[in-house]
Amino acid sequence: MKTCPKCNNPIDDDSILCMYCGYSTTGFDGEKCVSDIARRQAASEEKLVKTAFSIRVFAVILLVAGAFCDVISMLLVFNGSMEVFSFLTVGGTVAFILGLVLTFVG
Ligand SMILES: [Zn+2]
Repeated sequence: MKTCPKCNNPIDDDSILCMYCGYSTTGFDGEKCVSDIARRQAASEEKLVKTAFSIRVFAVILLVAGAFCDVISMLLVFNGSMEVFSFLTVGGTVAFILGLVLTFVG
């Protein structure tokens, strides 16, 4: 028979837990272990939320930039600048679609 270091009640030699206070004689701290897991989970979830948020911000920027390029290119076509027009239209549309996709993925 040994004595519980926490509550000083007797514990069986082959027992791994104090039946009075729940102290673990094996050194395994169940409470600490659970809180460690919870903390790690919360940290990884926070990281995920932050990543999703930055993807959204990036997507919105792409959407706005893409739409802006498309509008500019439409204005430029009236001036006969076809080279700039096609570049801006393709770039703008690609950025717009990419932004749209990222908005739904993120
Ligand atoms: Zn105890």
